[in-house]
Amino acid sequence: MNVYFDNAATTAMSRAALDAMIPALQDTYANASSLHTAGQLAKEKLEQARTEIADCLGAQPREIIFTSGGSEADNQAIISVAKWGAKRNKKHIVSTAFEHHAVLHTLQKLEKEGYEVTYLDVHEEGMVCLDELKAAIRPDTCLVTVMYANNEIGSIQPIAEIGAICREKNVLFHTDAVQAVGHLDIDVNEQNIDLLSLSAHKFHGPKGVGCLYAKRGVILSNLIEGGAQERGKRAGTENIPAIIGMAAALKDILSHREENEAKVSAMRDRLIEGLSQIPHSKLNGHPTKRLPGNVNFCFEGVEGESLLLLLDMKGIEASSGSACTSRSLDPSHVLLAIGLPHEIAHGSLRLTLSEYNTMEEVEYVIRELPGVIEYLRNMSPVWESLEKGETKHVI
Ligand SMILES: *Cc1c(COP(=O)(O)O)cnc(C)c1O
Repeated sequence: MNVYFDNAATTAMSRAALDAMIPALQDTYANASSLHTAGQLAKEKLEQARTEIADCLGAQPREIIFTSGGSEADNQAIISVAKWGAKRNKKHIVSTAFEHHAVLHTLQKLEKEGYEVTYLDVHEEGMVCLDELKAAIRPDTCLVTVMYANNEIGSIQPIAEIGAICREKNVLFHTDAVQAVGHLDIDVNEQNIDLLSLSAHKFHGPKGVGCLYAKRGVILSNLIEGGAQERGKRAGTENIPAIIGMAAALKDILSHREENEAKVSAMRDRLIEGLSQIPHSKLNGHPTKRLPGNVNFCFEGVEGESLLLLLDMKGIEASSGSACTSRSLDPSHVLLAIGLPHEIAHGSLRLTLSEYNTMEEVEYVIRELPGVIEYLRNMSPVWESLEKGETKHVI
């Protein structure tokens, strides 16, 4: 059996996205900046996709800037507001300790340039505390950036409440909604969101394309200089087939969002129930406020990388930490942010489901995983000393 449980890293493309993209790759090759008929036709398709995506977010088409993905959108959002803030003597930013690296590394770069960043604690369940957010906002704060849902532990933040606090305090609010778009409700006006990042390949669209929503009036600066595409805010010939694929994927996934949520969260809950039976295991993240497809466990005395390799041999494709951290031996910054000790954070497993998975696959993983854990524990000196009582169990 082959089980793909790594949908937070990326998803398979939907039929709807493929059906929209394949003819576009063949036929819509003209440059949208060209004045001839084919160019203008390409321009029309580009603008149609922009309108469709804006509609899905409750935004205006002119508030959408196409980018190469979520990382670029995060970079552009944060750097734009930081530059704007610097001109007004507002060089303080509020964020959290468990953001995606596209946000964290951008903030770290700004810190080296003299900005100050307050990283809010996300506590044991991976949730921002609204009172702590309120207290962190200062007169010189230009931006609050908090992710909508975490890519590793799936916890969903109170985005509308955070947006309301920012509006009241007159601070711009950016959210990395890459894990949320297509899976959770989004309305940028109702939720008081000023800037939002999304990425097509997290909702069955193509890779290498995403967008930044920036509310009218928010002043953006360019990461890429060149032509006047995207209202002069993002140079480079637009990847129209990918943008068309992104719009088709988003419309498609939203057209059965509630159905997907019911199906995927039922599989998630069964998986959590099954894996909780494994001794000395712990579910990471919030018990209920979590993405429909996110399961994240720690197993004491087990090393994440070996676990992944053994699961892969059984056809189970999963992840420990995020795709970006899995090549390094450092434990996930997200698991450390929720207070897990290093040795426990090393034994983490992330299984992320989509509506393309089945309950049979869930049952297969529930059957196979305990044996793999036991096998690894039997070879582990850490486990041996826990069993002998030389060291104490943490979970
Ligand atoms: C995947 C992801 C990103 C990066 O998006 P890309 O399109 O791969 O650049 C950013 N933030 C979160 C939360 C993600 O899950």
